[in-house]
Amino acid sequence: METVESVTRMRLVGGNLALDLINTRSGPPVGSPDDDVLTGYPELVAWAVYAGALTKAEAAALREQSRKNPRGALAAFARSLRVRDDLDEVFRALAADRSPNTSVLARLRDDEADALGHGQLDRGSTFAWTWRDDHTLARPLRPVVHAAVQLLTSGALDRIKECEGCRFIFIDESKNRSRRWCSMEDCGTAEKIRRYVAARRTRATDAAGHRVGRGG
Ligand SMILES: [Zn+2]
Repeated sequence: METVESVTRMRLVGGNLALDLINTRSGPPVGSPDDDVLTGYPELVAWAVYAGALTKAEAAALREQSRKNPRGALAAFARSLRVRDDLDEVFRALAADRSPNTSVLARLRDDEADALGHGQLDRGSTFAWTWRDDHTLARPLRPVVHAAVQLLTSGALDRIKECEGCRFIFIDESKNRSRRWCSMEDCGTAEKIRRYVAARRTRATDAAGHRVGRGG
């Protein structure tokens, strides 16, 4: 059973809120995910704080509201899993150089329209969408959906990649586009160890071959 604590132990490696939501499911690069930190509405709220999509005060208000309206919280949680599936389909397709499914893109448009309908334009150095007056249970999703659309409309799509060692998706912001792993500490190191062991095995086999050669 996953807990709120396990949400805050995961690495945020996507470089975009939408990719980080996709990465709440982990597992091997192909096949089904084998772990999921989003197990309920409280975990969704904890993740949104951790990922920077909600303030702690907003999270406390949402937790309070979800206790008063458990059915609403369940529906908002089910919706967030559906949105995550949609984002997974869109960005995994782009990482593999395929075109995303058009009906999924249409749902993303509807989610974005809903998000902007609950947002407001706040002035900083430029204007930005914020959701500080949105007190609906779908609030954690708003900035995630908007980040997805921003990435699709103005990001470098050819920099969206899948990790070679696991199912995580990230934006490769390296200068020469050489990033291959979600993180060096996890998949990068595992890959280095695998190659080191393979190289040692090859050297050992070669040495044995030489000995046999000389002996015969
Ligand atoms: Zn990885």
